[in-house]
Amino acid sequence: MDAASSVTCALAALALRLKNGQLTTAGKALLGALPILLMQWRQRLQRQKAARGKHPGTAEQRALCFNPAIQKEDFEERFIGTKEALESGSFDYIVVGSGSAGCPLAARLAKAGASVLLVEAGGEAQRSMEVQMPKKMWRLWQSEVDWGFRSVPQEKLLPPGRRLDMERGKTLGGSSAINYNMWVRGAPEDYDRWAEEFQCQGWSYQEVLPHFKSVERVSAAIGDASGDAASSAAAFRGRGGAVKVNTLHPPMLGSMEEVEDFLRACEETGDARNEDYNGPRLPGVGYTQFNTEGGGREDCFNAFIEPILRWYPNLHVASETFCRKVLLEKTDGQVRATGVQVELRTGDILEVKCRREVVLSAGALLTPQILMLSGIGEAKHLKEHGIECVRELPVGQNLQDHPLVPTVLLGEPKEETMPRAAYRNSSSLNAQLFWQSEVDKKREEELKRPLGADIQIILVTLSVETDQLDFAEQARRCLFAMILVHVVCSKMHRYPAILTD
Ligand SMILES: Cc1cc2nc3c(=O)[nH]c(=O)nc-3n(C[C@H](O)[C@H](O)[C@H](O)COP(=O)(O)OP(=O)(O)OC[C@H]3O[C@@H](n4cnc5c(N)ncnc54)[C@H](O)[C@@H]3O)c2cc1C
Repeated sequence: MDAASSVTCALAALALRLKNGQLTTAGKALLGALPILLMQWRQRLQRQKAARGKHPGTAEQRALCFNPAIQKEDFEERFIGTKEALESGSFDYIVVGSGSAGCPLAARLAKAGASVLLVEAGGEAQRSMEVQMPKKMWRLWQSEVDWGFRSVPQEKLLPPGRRLDMERGKTLGGSSAINYNMWVRGAPEDYDRWAEEFQCQGWSYQEVLPHFKSVERVSAAIGDASGDAASSAAAFRGRGGAVKVNTLHPPMLGSMEEVEDFLRACEETGDARNEDYNGPRLPGVGYTQFNTEGGGREDCFNAFIEPILRWYPNLHVASETFCRKVLLEKTDGQVRATGVQVELRTGDILEVKCRREVVLSAGALLTPQILMLSGIGEAKHLKEHGIECVRELPVGQNLQDHPLVPTVLLGEPKEETMPRAAYRNSSSLNAQLFWQSEVDKKREEELKRPLGADIQIILVTLSVETDQLDFAEQARRCLFAMILVHVVCSKMHRYPAILTD
């Protein structure tokens, strides 16, 4: 029960007692406490309001306002993005970026006994309600937890010159805190191709499989129903890792006819049912798997760092700390990273040194940026920006992304029936089909090797406020299905001209 309803109930109880002329001592005490309760309630509302704007308040205020269980002392004890703490600290490794890559890496290094500093430009928004509830993720894009990048005009899009939003998480948890939280490994064939065609050692599917298994804690329901795969579920899926993986449908959503219709329609047009697309094979249609559990989104900070932070004093997190560049030392033609230059939330700029390695895990867009700012990149390009080239390398090229094409189908007006817990957990992307296009089949023949699936068709079932979408004639609530076509990363569309502003 929230503060408002508690106060209302207390007032109602008092009013009743007064009516019967029976104001008890407890009633009087409650009446006396009322101004304090109201003041606390008002302060809480003010804190929430302050935390919602663009870059509102301090990181500490944002962390505290949505989660009363987190105490101020916890915050100060655990997150050290202050000048004094960073200057007095001593670290073996500095990991830049606390996203999907940085969090598990920092956790593993710390568990192995190393002293680790995890540096993150964003704040502690991973605890906010918007981040915790996948259903609200649409609100996060272009908000203060998104870097807010946009592409340069794309001549080949319609209308020509259209710009694309390129969301990237800027908070503890990185993009795992703002994404659709679907748990998808991709096509095994792609890993094998990278290993063979590009000589990426250790990247064949058999070699990456143990790592996939080690990070996931898959619910018992997944894999076991996949016919002959009951035994192969153990070979392909992990049950003891940090990230909880679950499907929401069934049993959480109960029967949702739109989802069943979608599965049936795919089967009728010849696509096989696949109960576990993260199992032995990708193609086919089935329920979506999410990194989620009872409490909502399982972002990487919550999965890997939060549970161990208190128990590993050698693991340090500096949030709202922007890495400006890597400090490089050049001796006898060798270049060595010795630390990072960071800018704190206060605007202070300082150098933090480490004894062993600097690990850059700032994402596909910002890792190359940090390298280039540090003097690693194409000499000509660096010179244009007045940066001395320390090591000439083709950094920042060949960016590939997967375009997403939404198609909206409007359904009949319908009551929202989803249970509260399911609503909290679900991002509504309930089922998907991994499918191979004719283009990909042709490529398969040319390359003489299997390529898996290249198209990901996702069913999204949403209830929306119709006035939000300007469907004035429609009933107030309606259910509609949106099918998103999502090209899987292996055969990504190339954007030769994409550079962010
Ligand atoms: C909208 C959206 C939906 C997606 N949906 C899915 C999905 O459903 N399933 C799926 O598997 N994948 C999905 N993805 C992709 C997935 O989230 C990313 O591939 C993955 O999170 C990338 O991990 P990363 O560690 O490379 O980068 P990130 O997770 O982006 O982490 C990089 C971190 O580095 C920080 N950083 C950057 N620069 C600096 C700096 N200079 N100093 C300090 N810190 C810095 C950033 O703030 C960020 O926290 C989605 C991505 C987006 C954007």
